[in-house]
Amino acid sequence: MTKANCLFCKIVAGEIPSDTVHEDDLVYAFNDINPMAPVHQLVIPRQHIASADDLTEADAELLGRVFAVTASLAAAAGLPDKGYRVVTNVGADAGQSVDHLHFHLLGGRAMTWPPG
Ligand code: AMP
Ligand code: ZN
Repeated sequence: MTKANCLFCKIVAGEIPSDTVHEDDLVYAFNDINPMAPVHQLVIPRQHIASADDLTEADAELLGRVFAVTASLAAAAGLPDKGYRVVTNVGADAGQSVDHLHFHLLGGRAMTWPPG
């Protein structure tokens, strides 16, 4: 399912270029255009889901793939030894700026907690 005027649906469809790091039948991943860490990749479902707020148990297979791909990308970037962060922002207060579910994979530097 593609949603008109969704930036990440257009990236998945190849209508807007991206720096792809992984793709399969369920998931697409690419480098963030404005990286906040030495490694900053986005892992997204091919299908349009607005945010984690819309997820249900029916998305179990998709989410399993998302986290398996994220772990694989982290390993490929050499992140597991020192650690990394996986983040999904939901809605305005969290700073979600693209309304297509995406998981940020951030690593390569120490990070603070709690987030701002
Ligand atoms: P969020 O603020 O959590 O919704 O994250 C959206 C992310 O998408 C931000 O980190 C942006 O830098 C990133 N982004 C926006 N447009 C693009 C693009 N065309 N290609 C890659 N990343 C993008
Ligand atoms: Zn979309």
